[in-house]
Amino acid sequence: MSWATRILKVGRIVQASPAAPARTVPSPTGTRASLQIRHVDAGSCNGCELELSGAFSSVYDAEQFGARLVASPRHADALVVTGVVTHNMRGPLIDTLAATPEPKLVIAMGDCACDGGMFRNGYGVAGAVGDFVPVDVELRGCPPTPDQIVETLRKVTGR
Ligand code: SF4
Repeated sequence: MSWATRILKVGRIVQASPAAPARTVPSPTGTRASLQIRHVDAGSCNGCELELSGAFSSVYDAEQFGARLVASPRHADALVVTGVVTHNMRGPLIDTLAATPEPKLVIAMGDCACDGGMFRNGYGVAGAVGDFVPVDVELRGCPPTPDQIVETLRKVTGR
């Protein structure tokens, strides 16, 4: 049997999504299934970035629930901040939030972003995300898994 015949015979195979979690955080724009996200790496080890890219990969597909990564804070409804905040990134983090239009959310992703995590006392560390910008959602884990990331985003998008 050729591949084309096999594909036609099997058809599309998709895994059913788990039921939507209860919406615990109101969407900043008041919409459902739409959250534009600017990601800020404030000083991460890149472990959180790996999992974030997994969450937006074709396997976990956060976009099907209405979350989307955008290139500019001016297009964003929310910031997802990873990593502890280094001295060099404190100013850019504050500036990025200022460039994001109201209404907006800040999601601190990973233990480092939430409370400094294992790098809390590092010489280059200025503090946790909440020390510099208001945090609306904390996503714990070192790093959080793509499943946890998608679930947290679904609690905002409501889808
Ligand atoms: S929470 Fe863990 S994976 Fe994420 S930046 Fe910190 S040390 Fe790295």
